[in-house]
Amino acid sequence: MYRIKRFFDCQVPVNKCNFECDYCTVGQWRKVNGESPTQYTPFKYSVEHMANALTPERLGGICAFNLCGNGETFLHPQILEFAVALLKQGHFVSIVTNGTVSSAIDSLCELSEDLRSHVFIKFSFHYIELKKKNLLRRYFENVEKAHKSGMSLTVELVASDSNVEYIEEIKDICLKNLGVLCHLTDPRLNTASDIRHLTDMPMEEHLKIWSQFESALFDYRQATWGDNREKYFCYGGVWSFNLALGSGKLKQCYRNSDTVQFIFENTDEPIHYLPRGHHCSFAHCFNSHVFDCLCGVIPEIKSPYYIELRNRKLPDGTEWIKDAYKEVYGRRVCENNDEYSAQEKIFADGIISLFNEIDSGNDFERLVDDVMDKVSKVYDISFYGEGLINDWFERKYNEKKINGKELEKLVIVTNYADFAQIKAKLQETEKAKIISIVDLMTLQGE
Ligand code: SF4
Ligand code: SF4
Repeated sequence: MYRIKRFFDCQVPVNKCNFECDYCTVGQWRKVNGESPTQYTPFKYSVEHMANALTPERLGGICAFNLCGNGETFLHPQILEFAVALLKQGHFVSIVTNGTVSSAIDSLCELSEDLRSHVFIKFSFHYIELKKKNLLRRYFENVEKAHKSGMSLTVELVASDSNVEYIEEIKDICLKNLGVLCHLTDPRLNTASDIRHLTDMPMEEHLKIWSQFESALFDYRQATWGDNREKYFCYGGVWSFNLALGSGKLKQCYRNSDTVQFIFENTDEPIHYLPRGHHCSFAHCFNSHVFDCLCGVIPEIKSPYYIELRNRKLPDGTEWIKDAYKEVYGRRVCENNDEYSAQEKIFADGIISLFNEIDSGNDFERLVDDVMDKVSKVYDISFYGEGLINDWFERKYNEKKINGKELEKLVIVTNYADFAQIKAKLQETEKAKIISIVDLMTLQGE
């Protein structure tokens, strides 16, 4: 049985695209502002180095990676090599594409059966652009190739106002070429703080029109729209991440969430996880269909399994989701991991609060007092770093330092995102145990 330990949503540094969808949510919208993204950025590190940083041993098990560009993912010239490197390690790799780069689909079809069974392709169905560019045939041929080769896939249309006048055409062409209707996602204004719906239609009409596709994906997105997550403890930063492939910056979630670690540097260093906790900054979960249904980042939120949102059963009895992915998408990542204790949650929340200049609360202060009391009996403690977390700990616990010669030296690095690099430097001069502030609780039992 495949058990996914963590989920990584990877940003592929490619801006160019052969399409110009009016609702583009991933970067092509910049064209509207006069810019014209045409480039990709080569990875800073070699693919081999990146793969070595992402081994199942370092990550705690087999993981799921989603690869998505700010333009067409397959137009990044290193992305296939990277995907294959992950597959060879036993990971599961999903790739978001507009389905027109046939050479990339062909390359995936040529992989061994075992590797292909770990590939999931999200074929975004950009009907208007496909029609305009006379690429509909190529698109459906690529979907068919992927399906026949044993890869898992889904076909997803954006429920945009611009697509409404083509709904009957879209349904006909789906039934003719796929045997089923595609799934739907809703366009949204990613740049607005409320990430609102991107439709000029009255909401009721919008929902009624698109309900004819009977897409569980669309339905779940609607069900969670506007549901603010601040009241919950989110495990983004432990079970799910946003990873910038260009730099190795591993974040808890998107946009203004905090950096966990630069994981392509100091690759021997374990990853020091830090959950987002009660600090979700979005009006609603940015990708609830993934983070709830696949990851279960908030375990108490009940949701359908991801397989229900992605699969379709075809008239010939085959399915878009094949056996290996049925296991992966038929469970949540939270079911493969242990939850934090109440103390661990208070601590993680407090650290994020300090970092973001928010009141960290009395519970956190009491907890840290207690831990520092115990730790200062065993270690001669000093703090290393700068910024608000360092200021807080220095101010409160400097006087607690015991300079007894018999005690082992302990350096607590407060700049957690840069811990691996700081530790490597400190080790050149310091003879001390060096830990990240995020691991302070682990010292309690010593
Ligand atoms: S294919 Fe994707 S990246 Fe390209 S313009 Fe359309 S939505 Fe944007
Ligand atoms: S957007 Fe979703 S995954 Fe991200 S922090 Fe908020 S609840 Fe967690």
